[in-house]
Amino acid sequence: MIATDQELLTREVGGRLDHVVDELIALSEINSGSFNPQGVAKTGERLTEWMSPLEPDRLDLVPIEPSPVMGADGQLEHCEVGPALVASKNLDAPTQVLLFGHLDTVFPKDHDFQHVARSGSKLNGPGVTDCIGGMLIAIEALRLVDQHKVLDAGLGWTFVAVPDEEIGSHGSKPFLASFAPGRMAGLGFEPALPDGSLSHARKGSLTVHAVVGGRPAHVGRAHAEGRSAIRGLAEFIGRVEALTSDSLTVNCGKINGGGPLNVVPDRAVGSFNIRVLDHEAEALARQQFQTIAADFDETPIELIWTGHRPPKIPGPEHLRLLDLGEAVNGSSLDVTSTGGCCDGNDLAAVGLANLDTLGIRGGGIHSSDEVADIDSIPGRAAFAAGLMASLVADSTETGR
Ligand SMILES: [Zn+2]
Repeated sequence: MIATDQELLTREVGGRLDHVVDELIALSEINSGSFNPQGVAKTGERLTEWMSPLEPDRLDLVPIEPSPVMGADGQLEHCEVGPALVASKNLDAPTQVLLFGHLDTVFPKDHDFQHVARSGSKLNGPGVTDCIGGMLIAIEALRLVDQHKVLDAGLGWTFVAVPDEEIGSHGSKPFLASFAPGRMAGLGFEPALPDGSLSHARKGSLTVHAVVGGRPAHVGRAHAEGRSAIRGLAEFIGRVEALTSDSLTVNCGKINGGGPLNVVPDRAVGSFNIRVLDHEAEALARQQFQTIAADFDETPIELIWTGHRPPKIPGPEHLRLLDLGEAVNGSSLDVTSTGGCCDGNDLAAVGLANLDTLGIRGGGIHSSDEVADIDSIPGRAAFAAGLMASLVADSTETGR
């Protein structure tokens, strides 16, 4: 049974490893920054070609709604993003799984970090780990389940790679969620945590912008008549960041405002990311932000909420997936709770239990130190294939 013969599967992918690594390098050399829709589309097109030998029943690129970005003037702009890649096979089979990853990276077109360098079994390059390497692992796993007749045994799969994960999946969220109903599990190919463990609970994330008004005045002639939006924002930042506790983190990551130095500024914008441990912390954060903002009469504050991923709190279905994973692995799996979040949060929130860090081992993600350990590819692909096979066996046994 392929669910348990991990050595055999690992060897099979090992035999293709040079080929897979060449593709990983080629894909990572294409810039696919979230706000480079043409680059993301190119990555999607190349990955589509790479997947075509799997002979999916569906294999196409689907346009995704733009993402809101706060401008320096306090107005939301809607920025175009690339398409999502969707592939599926055997949708009539009794056991359906959803594999997911993302085409985009955090590195814009004008970033210095654009090329891949290889040193032994390590690749250093944009997206090699987060998440191109992971998606190639997913595709190798799909190759294995095909070759080992798991599809004939009752497996159907859908693979979705979104174009905007690194900017909060604003446009792709409803699209990805539309694949949750009827799926037995989600398998996400975000990188493993740096120690090789899988993520367990994940914090939730909120993005909010405080647009602060004021009253302009000449600094020399009428300073007392002015109301400084920058000063209002500074006070607001101090108060909301002080909410930070064990279950809640508030970070103002960007500010804009003001103009000529001899004018009291009448506009300032602060953008915040909030991380929450659980639903109570999320409700508290929303309520406290509103309450504190309402205190600012003279420099009125408008809050604009644009991003949201609910906390991922492992339930019984998630723990069942971990049990299956341990059976495939033949020993216990290391799991770690994390403050980071991803599409796995959103899928769990719509009821699809998922393991979301089945991707490549590596480190330094979101920086020029991003590194992937290519030796991890065969074993991780074998594990994901084993997991799919054990889901088929599990649903046959339990009649789910
Ligand atoms: Zn990622």
